[in-house]
Amino acid sequence: MRYSKFKKHMLTLSLVSFISMLILLLVIVWHLYSSILKERKILIHSQVDTVMSLMQEMYQDSLDGTLTKEEAQHQFLAYVEKLKYSGHGYFWVLNTEGVMIMHPYNKSGIGKSLINVKDKDGKFYVRSIISTIQQNENGFVSYYWPNPNYEVLAQKLSYVALFKPWGWIVGTGLYVSDLNREILSQIYIGLLVIIGLFSLSVFVSLRLSRRYMTDLRNVAIFDRLTRLYRRSYLDEMGPRMLKEKHTKPLSVIFFDIDLFKKVNDQYGHDYGDIVLSAISSIIQKELLPHKDVFRYGGEEIIALLYASEEESRVFAEKVRRATAEHVFHYSDTEHFNITISSGVAVQNAQDSFSDLIRRADRCMYFAKARGRDKVVTESEVREIAEA
Ligand code: GH3
Ligand code: MG
Ligand code: MG
Repeated sequence: MRYSKFKKHMLTLSLVSFISMLILLLVIVWHLYSSILKERKILIHSQVDTVMSLMQEMYQDSLDGTLTKEEAQHQFLAYVEKLKYSGHGYFWVLNTEGVMIMHPYNKSGIGKSLINVKDKDGKFYVRSIISTIQQNENGFVSYYWPNPNYEVLAQKLSYVALFKPWGWIVGTGLYVSDLNREILSQIYIGLLVIIGLFSLSVFVSLRLSRRYMTDLRNVAIFDRLTRLYRRSYLDEMGPRMLKEKHTKPLSVIFFDIDLFKKVNDQYGHDYGDIVLSAISSIIQKELLPHKDVFRYGGEEIIALLYASEEESRVFAEKVRRATAEHVFHYSDTEHFNITISSGVAVQNAQDSFSDLIRRADRCMYFAKARGRDKVVTESEVREIAEA
């Protein structure tokens, strides 16, 4: 699989997880919203219940004769007007005709009827409050009202309850926009976390995919023992390099280690591997800056380079000499040298890549035939043939 394709898969995976996280965030926010709303409704309900019990006590005092009805009502209103909960929570009192009895933030409205007042949606909200308490004596009503904290009309959800003996309705409410603001801040935090996680996952997936693709590619193209390119990579690269336009022709140097079977027989296959690996390193080093060196099979190695026959012969000769000079220390007492034979062929117009390899191989066999430890070029083969 190509890296770009792999990268696309990883990015798709990250995107899917990003969308899943977004959906999860929305579900969590929805649950959070519902549970906060429920909790706030319970709060305003219980606050009104407390005020109702206070009113009941005042009423009882007026029945007992401790206070007159007017004194009891006056004391109750003076107390409740100042009463606050959860920071901004306040209470107001209406009568069942819709006249405002007490409102801590709307003093000018006191004594006035709100029965014909509409909110911004055209809703007669006081009529709604009265019809709610006529049905159940208490309940929730929703309407628009100026939010004292922001001085804007805001959707309000109020809990109202009727105190029958005085015909008064006590209410308190919550601003839905306050709740939305709280939830929005949670959404922002959640989004930031998700975007952070998403960026991290994209970064990690790209890094990992690049690393794994490089590892996979290395395994696919490099031979484990010699660290040279594999034969399969030669089959892919060779024809491509042959077609490439270049100032110099494509040359093939075909190397074959001399009498390698004997090394295996004498020192064992494992030591044979060490020798093969060492000679591969010599070839790579001596051919620099050309790096296209492939293990063709067993102990046969092929180098591809854009060079004339003479330049390639010089490179092959450098390899031959360096190999012959290298001393292998099998043990403290057993030292030996190995030689290598090679054939050099250069691309011509009608060549296929396998033709070119075959010609280089043929030259290498001439080198063997001439006593090994030799470099033979095609020109030399021709000379031999003509002689
Ligand atoms: P020549 O000079 O004619 O090339 O003689 P040679 O002994 O090298 O003969 P040939 O090329 O036919 O044999 C190659 C031997 O290399 C045969 C095999 O045992 C050995 N060989 C091939 N691959 C490996 C390898 O990966 N490790 C080891 N240790 N030996 C290998
Ligand atoms: Mg061989
Ligand atoms: Mg050999």
